[in-house]
Amino acid sequence: MRRKVIIANWKMNYDFHETTYFIRNFLRIVFEKKINHKKEIIIAPSFPFLHISNQILQGTTLNIAAQNIHQKNKGSYTGEISAYMLKSIGIQKVILGHSERREFFLEKNNILLEKIKIALKYGLNIIFCVGESDLERSNNKQFKIVQNQLTETVFHCTSDEIKSFYIAYEPIWAIGTGKTATSEQAQTMHKFIRSLFLEKYGKNISNEISILYGGSINDINAKNLFYQKDIDGGLVGNSSLNLEKFLKIIQS
Ligand code: PEP
Repeated sequence: MRRKVIIANWKMNYDFHETTYFIRNFLRIVFEKKINHKKEIIIAPSFPFLHISNQILQGTTLNIAAQNIHQKNKGSYTGEISAYMLKSIGIQKVILGHSERREFFLEKNNILLEKIKIALKYGLNIIFCVGESDLERSNNKQFKIVQNQLTETVFHCTSDEIKSFYIAYEPIWAIGTGKTATSEQAQTMHKFIRSLFLEKYGKNISNEISILYGGSINDINAKNLFYQKDIDGGLVGNSSLNLEKFLKIIQS
C-alpha cells in the first residue's frame, strides 16, 4: 500500500536545545493525546543533532532523516558527511536533490546520481526532490524539467532499488515563498510523475511510490493538497518549525 508521509525539513535551523525540546514535546503530545495522524512522520534536523534525535525517537514509529550526504563514503573531503557515517549512528533516510542544494551548492544531476548510488549502497531510504523554477513554469517547461531530473538520476535505478525512494515534487517558486501551488497544479504534476514511473517501472511501482508535495505547505492549505489523488503527503519547511502548525499538518 502507498504510504502517506509527512517530512519536516528543518534546514539550518534549531540548535541542540531547540531540536531536542521540539522532538520531546512533539512526541509527548502525539502519544499522550493519542493524536490520530495515520501518517509516517520523518524529521530532518541538522547533522550535529541527528544522533540525539534518533535516540529520542528509538522505539517510536517516528523517523529521522539527514538533509544531505557526500557522494563518496570516506576520504579527503573536509567538512563533508557520508552515508557510511550516518549508517553508523543508525540513520536510515536522507533527503537528496533539494533545490537549495542544487542552487547554492551546485549539485547537478550527475552528482545527485552518485549520491543516490552511495545512499543505496549503505541501505538508506532516499527522499528525492524535483521541481521547476518560476521561469521554467512561465515557459511551460515544468514537465520537461521534472522529467529530465528523474531521467538523469532516479531512473538509473533498478525496480528493486526504487522501493527505497520517496519522491518530493517541490516547485522552486513555492519553496519558502508563501506562494503554494494550487491543489490542481500540484495534482497535475504528481499525476505526470506517477505516469513516468508507470512507463519506466510498471503498474505496481507507480501505484506504490509515495509522491509528496513541498512548497509553502501550512496548516490551512495542507488538507486540500493532501486530499488530491496522487499527493501522498508533504515535505514541509517553515511550517514544520512551529509545533502547533506541524501538529495540525500531520492531522490534515
Ligand atoms: C522545503 O524546503 O523543502 C520546503 C518545502 O520549504 P517551505 O515549506 O518553507 O516552502
